[in-house]
Amino acid sequence: MNQCAKSLSIFRYFCIPVFNIYKGDFVIMAPKVDKDTCVGCESCVNACPCGAISIVDGVAQIDEEQCADCLTCVDACPCSAIKSE
Ligand code: SF4
Ligand code: SF4
Repeated sequence: MNQCAKSLSIFRYFCIPVFNIYKGDFVIMAPKVDKDTCVGCESCVNACPCGAISIVDGVAQIDEEQCADCLTCVDACPCSAIKSE
């Protein structure tokens, strides 16, 4: 795991659960790509601080091992092709 992912793990395992507890829910939100909506524009690839996204066959693919669940990619996608769930 690179330094970025280590740093964001704090966000993943502490800040997000605390926020969700505040909302009354204990769930770690993870990004998921809608392959039918993705146009392979690479905006998410460039926005991801962990280098966890690559384009495979014209569609964004997230490496769960590298992903820190920061959800930056959700906001970066101009097509709303990445959802948090
Ligand atoms: S949530 Fe998205 S932007 Fe954040 S680390 Fe995972 S793939 Fe990258
Ligand atoms: S930003 Fe959205 S449309 Fe562009 S490659 Fe990523 S998921 Fe696909």
